[in-house]
Amino acid sequence: MDESSFILGVDLDGVVGDFYGSLRKIAAEWLNKPLDALSVEVDYGLDRWGLVEYGGYPRLHRFAITQRNLFRDMEPIKDAPAVLRKLSAKGIRIRIITHRLFLKYFHRASITQTVDWLDSYDIPYWDLCFMKDKGAVGAHVYIDDAPSNVISLREQGCHTIVFTNSTNTALPGPRADTWLEVETLVMDALDEWTTGTLNLFGATDFRR
Ligand SMILES: [Mg+2]
Repeated sequence: MDESSFILGVDLDGVVGDFYGSLRKIAAEWLNKPLDALSVEVDYGLDRWGLVEYGGYPRLHRFAITQRNLFRDMEPIKDAPAVLRKLSAKGIRIRIITHRLFLKYFHRASITQTVDWLDSYDIPYWDLCFMKDKGAVGAHVYIDDAPSNVISLREQGCHTIVFTNSTNTALPGPRADTWLEVETLVMDALDEWTTGTLNLFGATDFRR
Protein backbone atom coordinates (compact mmCIF):
# COMPACT_ATOMS: atom_id res chain seq x y z
CA MET A 1 0.00 0.00 0.00
CA ASP A 2 1.16 3.51 -0.73
CA GLU A 3 1.87 4.89 2.73
CA SER A 4 2.49 8.45 1.59
CA SER A 5 -1.16 9.41 1.20
CA PHE A 6 -4.50 8.50 2.65
CA ILE A 7 -6.34 6.17 0.28
CA LEU A 8 -10.13 6.02 -0.07
CA GLY A 9 -11.34 2.85 -1.79
CA VAL A 10 -14.55 3.72 -3.62
CA ASP A 11 -17.08 1.30 -5.10
CA LEU A 12 -19.00 2.65 -8.11
CA ASP A 13 -22.37 0.91 -8.55
CA GLY A 14 -24.83 1.95 -5.88
CA VAL A 15 -22.30 4.34 -4.31
CA VAL A 16 -21.11 6.87 -6.91
CA GLY A 17 -23.44 5.82 -9.72
CA ASP A 18 -27.20 5.30 -9.34
CA PHE A 19 -26.96 1.75 -10.60
CA TYR A 20 -30.36 0.54 -9.46
CA GLY A 21 -32.26 3.66 -10.54
CA SER A 22 -30.68 3.63 -14.00
CA LEU A 23 -30.97 -0.12 -14.49
CA ARG A 24 -34.63 -0.02 -13.44
CA LYS A 25 -35.54 2.08 -16.49
CA ILE A 26 -33.69 -0.27 -18.81
CA ALA A 27 -35.22 -3.30 -17.11
CA ALA A 28 -38.74 -1.92 -17.62
CA GLU A 29 -38.10 -1.72 -21.35
CA TRP A 30 -36.45 -5.16 -21.44
CA LEU A 31 -39.24 -6.78 -19.44
CA ASN A 32 -41.93 -4.88 -21.38
CA LYS A 33 -43.46 -3.66 -18.12
CA PRO A 34 -44.45 -0.18 -16.95
CA LEU A 35 -41.76 1.44 -14.82
CA ASP A 36 -44.06 1.51 -11.82
CA ALA A 37 -44.31 -2.29 -11.92
CA LEU A 38 -40.66 -2.51 -10.89
CA SER A 39 -40.01 -1.93 -7.22
CA VAL A 40 -37.68 0.94 -6.31
CA GLU A 41 -36.84 -0.93 -3.13
CA VAL A 42 -34.62 -3.64 -4.56
CA ASP A 43 -32.91 -6.59 -2.99
CA TYR A 44 -29.41 -7.68 -3.90
CA GLY A 45 -29.85 -9.83 -7.03
CA LEU A 46 -33.02 -7.99 -8.13
CA ASP A 47 -35.31 -10.98 -7.52
CA ARG A 48 -38.28 -8.65 -7.03
CA TRP A 49 -38.18 -7.55 -10.65
CA GLY A 50 -39.06 -11.05 -11.86
CA LEU A 51 -36.11 -11.43 -14.21
CA VAL A 52 -35.91 -15.21 -14.10
CA GLU A 53 -38.65 -16.00 -16.62
CA TYR A 54 -37.06 -13.58 -19.09
CA GLY A 55 -33.63 -15.20 -18.96
CA GLY A 56 -32.24 -13.95 -15.68
CA TYR A 57 -30.01 -11.15 -14.51
CA PRO A 58 -26.94 -11.86 -16.67
CA ARG A 59 -29.00 -11.35 -19.86
CA LEU A 60 -30.42 -8.06 -18.61
CA HIS A 61 -26.95 -6.95 -17.57
CA ARG A 62 -25.48 -7.71 -20.99
CA PHE A 63 -28.33 -5.84 -22.70
CA ALA A 64 -27.95 -2.87 -20.37
CA ILE A 65 -24.22 -2.48 -21.04
CA THR A 66 -23.90 -3.44 -24.69
CA GLN A 67 -27.19 -1.98 -26.03
CA ARG A 68 -28.09 0.82 -23.62
CA ASN A 69 -24.64 1.95 -22.44
CA LEU A 70 -25.55 1.73 -18.77
CA PHE A 71 -22.03 2.42 -17.51
CA ARG A 72 -21.72 5.49 -19.74
CA ASP A 73 -25.18 6.99 -19.21
CA MET A 74 -25.87 6.15 -15.55
CA GLU A 75 -26.92 9.06 -13.35
CA PRO A 76 -24.52 9.80 -10.50
CA ILE A 77 -25.66 9.57 -6.89
CA LYS A 78 -26.48 13.04 -5.56
CA ASP A 79 -23.39 15.02 -4.47
CA ALA A 80 -20.98 12.14 -5.12
CA PRO A 81 -18.83 13.72 -7.87
CA ALA A 82 -18.55 17.05 -6.05
CA VAL A 83 -17.66 15.47 -2.69
CA LEU A 84 -15.03 13.28 -4.36
CA ARG A 85 -13.54 16.42 -5.92
CA LYS A 86 -13.40 18.05 -2.49
CA LEU A 87 -11.81 15.00 -0.87
CA SER A 88 -9.27 14.74 -3.67
CA ALA A 89 -8.44 18.43 -3.31
CA LYS A 90 -7.58 17.75 0.36
CA GLY A 91 -4.92 15.26 -0.75
CA ILE A 92 -6.92 12.06 -0.36
CA ARG A 93 -6.04 9.50 -3.03
CA ILE A 94 -9.23 8.21 -4.69
CA ARG A 95 -8.93 4.55 -5.62
CA ILE A 96 -11.92 3.26 -7.59
CA ILE A 97 -12.52 -0.45 -6.94
CA THR A 98 -15.31 -2.08 -8.91
CA HIS A 99 -16.35 -5.60 -9.85
CA ARG A 100 -17.90 -4.57 -13.17
CA LEU A 101 -16.10 -7.31 -15.14
CA PHE A 102 -18.02 -10.15 -13.54
CA LEU A 103 -19.51 -11.28 -16.88
CA LYS A 104 -17.37 -12.29 -19.84
CA TYR A 105 -17.12 -11.06 -23.43
CA PHE A 106 -17.90 -7.34 -23.17
CA HIS A 107 -15.06 -6.10 -21.01
CA ARG A 108 -14.07 -3.48 -23.58
CA ALA A 109 -17.50 -1.85 -23.43
CA SER A 110 -17.59 -2.04 -19.64
CA ILE A 111 -14.17 -0.46 -19.20
CA THR A 112 -14.55 2.17 -21.93
CA GLN A 113 -17.95 3.29 -20.66
CA THR A 114 -16.65 3.43 -17.09
CA VAL A 115 -13.70 5.67 -17.98
CA ASP A 116 -15.85 7.93 -20.17
CA TRP A 117 -18.42 8.24 -17.39
CA LEU A 118 -15.82 9.10 -14.74
CA ASP A 119 -14.41 11.80 -17.01
CA SER A 120 -17.81 13.19 -17.99
CA TYR A 121 -18.69 13.85 -14.34
CA ASP A 122 -15.15 15.01 -13.50
CA ILE A 123 -14.74 12.35 -10.86
CA PRO A 124 -11.11 12.39 -9.72
CA TYR A 125 -9.15 9.18 -9.26
CA TRP A 126 -5.58 7.94 -9.53
CA ASP A 127 -6.29 4.23 -9.52
CA LEU A 128 -9.01 2.24 -11.28
CA CYS A 129 -9.20 -1.38 -10.17
CA PHE A 130 -11.54 -3.94 -11.72
CA MET A 131 -11.44 -6.48 -8.92
CA LYS A 132 -13.65 -8.95 -7.11
CA ASP A 133 -11.46 -9.21 -4.03
CA LYS A 134 -11.53 -5.58 -2.99
CA GLY A 135 -9.56 -6.18 0.19
CA ALA A 136 -6.58 -7.28 -1.92
CA VAL A 137 -6.28 -3.80 -3.40
CA GLY A 138 -5.52 -1.89 -0.22
CA ALA A 139 -7.11 1.31 1.05
CA HIS A 140 -7.28 3.05 4.42
CA VAL A 141 -11.06 3.38 4.27
CA TYR A 142 -13.51 1.73 1.89
CA ILE A 143 -17.03 2.68 0.92
CA ASP A 144 -19.33 0.04 -0.58
CA ASP A 145 -23.01 -0.87 -0.72
CA ALA A 146 -23.05 -4.61 -1.43
CA PRO A 147 -23.59 -6.63 1.75
CA SER A 148 -21.21 -9.39 0.64
CA ASN A 149 -18.42 -6.88 -0.03
CA VAL A 150 -18.93 -5.00 3.22
CA ILE A 151 -18.95 -8.20 5.27
CA SER A 152 -15.87 -9.57 3.48
CA LEU A 153 -13.92 -6.32 3.85
CA ARG A 154 -14.75 -6.02 7.54
CA GLU A 155 -13.77 -9.64 8.14
CA GLN A 156 -10.37 -8.74 6.70
CA GLY A 157 -10.12 -5.84 9.15
CA CYS A 158 -10.72 -3.13 6.55
CA HIS A 159 -12.43 0.06 7.71
CA THR A 160 -15.61 0.06 5.63
CA ILE A 161 -18.45 2.55 5.40
CA VAL A 162 -21.80 1.21 4.16
CA PHE A 163 -23.47 3.50 1.65
CA THR A 164 -27.16 3.10 2.37
CA ASN A 165 -29.62 1.59 -0.08
CA SER A 166 -32.38 -0.98 0.20
CA THR A 167 -29.98 -3.89 -0.31
CA ASN A 168 -27.99 -3.27 2.86
CA THR A 169 -30.32 -1.98 5.58
CA ALA A 170 -29.56 -4.98 7.81
CA LEU A 171 -25.84 -4.20 8.03
CA PRO A 172 -24.45 -2.44 11.10
CA GLY A 173 -22.70 0.90 10.74
CA PRO A 174 -20.73 2.93 10.23
CA ARG A 175 -22.93 3.98 7.37
CA ALA A 176 -23.62 7.06 5.31
CA ASP A 177 -27.06 7.88 3.92
CA THR A 178 -25.73 10.73 1.78
CA TRP A 179 -22.44 11.86 0.30
CA LEU A 180 -22.36 14.77 2.74
CA GLU A 181 -22.22 12.16 5.48
CA VAL A 182 -19.49 10.33 3.55
CA GLU A 183 -17.48 13.54 3.52
CA THR A 184 -17.73 13.91 7.29
CA LEU A 185 -16.82 10.28 8.00
CA VAL A 186 -13.87 10.31 5.61
CA MET A 187 -12.53 13.60 6.93
CA ASP A 188 -12.77 12.20 10.49
CA ALA A 189 -10.86 9.12 9.35
CA LEU A 190 -8.24 11.29 7.66
CA ASP A 191 -7.77 13.26 10.88
CA GLU A 192 -7.31 10.03 12.84
CA TRP A 193 -4.92 8.60 10.25
CA THR A 194 -2.90 11.82 10.31
CA THR A 195 -2.63 11.68 14.11
CA GLY A 196 -1.96 7.94 14.16
CA THR A 197 -5.23 6.97 15.81
CA LEU A 198 -7.05 5.37 12.91
CA ASN A 199 -6.83 2.00 14.63
CA LEU A 200 -8.71 3.45 17.56
CA PHE A 201 -11.26 4.84 15.14
CA GLY A 202 -11.51 1.35 13.72
CA ALA A 203 -11.83 -0.33 17.07
CA THR A 204 -14.64 1.96 18.15
CA ASP A 205 -16.54 2.66 14.98
CA PHE A 206 -15.33 0.61 12.09
CA ARG A 207 -15.77 -2.88 13.42
CA ARG A 208 -18.95 -4.86 13.39
MG1 LIG B 1 -21.80 -1.49 -5.38
